[in-house]
Amino acid sequence: MKAVVVREFGAPEVLKIEEVPVPTPGPTQVLVRVKAIGVNPVETYIRTASYVKKPNLPYTPGTDAAGVVEAVGANVTSVKAGDRVYTHGTVSGSYAEATICEETQVHALASRLSFAQGAAVGVPYGTAWRALFLKAQARPGDTVFIHGASGGVGVAAVQIARASGLRVIGTAGSDKGIALVREQGAHEVLNHRDPDYLAKVLPLTGGRGADVILEMLTNVNLDKDFDILALRGRLIAIGNRGRIEIDPGKLMTKDGILLGMRMFNATPEDHRVIHSAVVAGLEAGMLNPVVGREMPLGDAPKAHVAVLEPGAYGKIVLNP
Ligand code: NAP
Repeated sequence: MKAVVVREFGAPEVLKIEEVPVPTPGPTQVLVRVKAIGVNPVETYIRTASYVKKPNLPYTPGTDAAGVVEAVGANVTSVKAGDRVYTHGTVSGSYAEATICEETQVHALASRLSFAQGAAVGVPYGTAWRALFLKAQARPGDTVFIHGASGGVGVAAVQIARASGLRVIGTAGSDKGIALVREQGAHEVLNHRDPDYLAKVLPLTGGRGADVILEMLTNVNLDKDFDILALRGRLIAIGNRGRIEIDPGKLMTKDGILLGMRMFNATPEDHRVIHSAVVAGLEAGMLNPVVGREMPLGDAPKAHVAVLEPGAYGKIVLNP
């Protein structure tokens, strides 16, 4: 089968297609025939060895895919050959024509969704659900400010929050991104390239501020986020690309809670809870992943450039 194999850390061009053997699932594992692959920004950080975790070389990137179960190990009971699934995590890497996952890493993909949409679920919806409910303890009636709502995690967060009875204010940095966030159900959308956009948040919340802030670019926004956080609000740092100076007094004045998260710290129980909810939302039609761009697997280097460019519009998906 074809797979992307990285033999040295570096520029996008280190993502090279090779012919490799189809892996065999172990007793607790599942072999998934991959139909579509989700590209996440973290895969670019890993490729350049700038992430906190580094894989051993060579490796095949990727955690998110959708496809059809081809074979299961002897101890696997929750899925069988022929089932449509999406993955959140893999053992052998998802940038390939087939991937090995632990049974706990595959989840039912409702027939109403395309494989491309399924590839857009794992990390984005897992992250958004964990941030909203396991971290921020969001409740119906809360206002959530999603700082960066036009990308993979942001779109997921808007849909999940809206379906859960929260008031949603989202931001995007382009006209098409703003339209997208509005279409996903955000009550208000602001442009994070407008110099005065944060001044609009307090008037939009009757002066209270946001009960929950999901932050996709913490190194740019954190200090200013304290100004729009409600009393006893929860701010979740999801994305970060550098350092920032903050005034902790502003957080103290709000009795605010600042929480960081990395999906790789989620426990098996977290994953069970998160994906039980996500699978149900997908089946019920409340969650609808948005695929902005599809590219062939051989264009993985171009996808890694595109996923870091401004003007996010849902997910970039590779087709094997
Ligand atoms: P993405 O699809 O590339 O989306 C990035 C989002 O950030 C877009 O909405 C983009 O808007 C927005 N953005 C750009 N400049 C911004 C600014 N100044 N203020 C606020 N938002 C801004 O990425 P993603 O998959 O949604 O992931 C978002 C971030 O979270 C990435 O940094 C990713 O690495 C990280 N992440 C972390 C975890 C974790 O476990 N902690 C999990 C998943 C993702 P425009 O392009 O419209 O400007």
